[in-house]
Amino acid sequence: MLNSKENRQNIEIISEIKSIRAKIHDWKRQNLTVGFVPTMGALHIGHASLIEKAKSLCDRVVVSIFVNPAQFGPNEDYSHYPRQIEKDREICLNNQANVIFTPTVQEMYPDNADLTAISVPDSLKNKLCGIARQGHFDGVATVVVKLLNIIQPDKAFFGQKDAQQLIIIKKICRDLNLSPEIIGCPIIRDHDGLACSSRNTYLSLKSRNKALSLFKTLKKVEELYKSGLKLKNEVLIQTKEYLHPDISLEYFDIYNIDTLEPEDILRAGLLVAIAANVDGVRLIDNIVLK
Ligand code: AMP
Repeated sequence: MLNSKENRQNIEIISEIKSIRAKIHDWKRQNLTVGFVPTMGALHIGHASLIEKAKSLCDRVVVSIFVNPAQFGPNEDYSHYPRQIEKDREICLNNQANVIFTPTVQEMYPDNADLTAISVPDSLKNKLCGIARQGHFDGVATVVVKLLNIIQPDKAFFGQKDAQQLIIIKKICRDLNLSPEIIGCPIIRDHDGLACSSRNTYLSLKSRNKALSLFKTLKKVEELYKSGLKLKNEVLIQTKEYLHPDISLEYFDIYNIDTLEPEDILRAGLLVAIAANVDGVRLIDNIVLK
C-alpha cells in the first residue's frame, strides 16, 4: 500500500470537463477500468469507504466534489454547506483515489437558465425525502447523469445512507440505458452509531445526543422484528417512544426497497427509513431488515 506521501505525487485535481475527459480517455486507451465516486465534499469515513470499495474493484478512481445547487431548495443550506478541499484532498490521498474532479457551477451549468433536466418518476420522487425537498431528486438525477456522461466510468459507487437516491439512480440507469454499473455501499457509522454525514458537523454535543435516537429507534424496529413482531403499526407505535422528544420527525416508516411503497407486514428486505430535523439540522438514516 502506498503511504499518503508517495500517493500525493499521483493525485490530480481537475476542474475542467475537457481535461478530465482527456485523462479518462488516456486510461481507457490503456485498458484500465474506471471507478467513480460522486460527492459534495466535506468527506468523512463514509465517503472513504466508497473510495476504498471503488479502488478494490477498479484500476483508477475518480472522486468528484461538487456542491450541486440544483438539488438544494431555496431554504436549504447550499451557501453554507461545509467546504474543506484540503481535508478532502487528504482523505482522497489516503484512500488512493487517482483524480479529484472539482468542476465549478459555471462549468457544469453554463446555460443555467435553460437546462435540459431529468425528471424522476413521481412514484419515486414524491415520497420520503422528496416530500420536504421538492425538486431535490430531479436536481440529483440531472447532476448524476451529467457526471456519468462526463466520466463514463465502468462502475459508480453510492451509499445506502441515501437509500432513496440509490434506488432512483439505479432506475435512471435502467430507464436511460446508461452503461455504468451502480454499486450500493453500506452505511458507515461513527463509534456511537450515528450515521456519518457531512451535516453532522453542524451538530452540537447536545444535538448529537438527540440525533442518536434515530439509529436507536431503527435498531429497536429490528429488535422487535427479530423477536417475531410483524405488524408495522404495532412496531412503529412501540418504537417511536425511543425518539428524542425534542426532534421534529419528518418521516418514519417501512417501505418496499424497489418501489418505496409503505408495507404493512414486516419481512426481510424491507427498508426502515427515518428523517428528522434535529435542532435545525436535517438528518436521515435507514436499515434494511434481514
Ligand atoms: P454526499 O457528499 O452527501 O452527496 O454523499 C456522497 C456519497 O457518499 C453518496 O453516495 C452518499 O450516499 C455516500 N455517503 C454519505 N454518507 C455515507 C455514510 N455514512 N456511509 C456510506 N456512504 C455514505
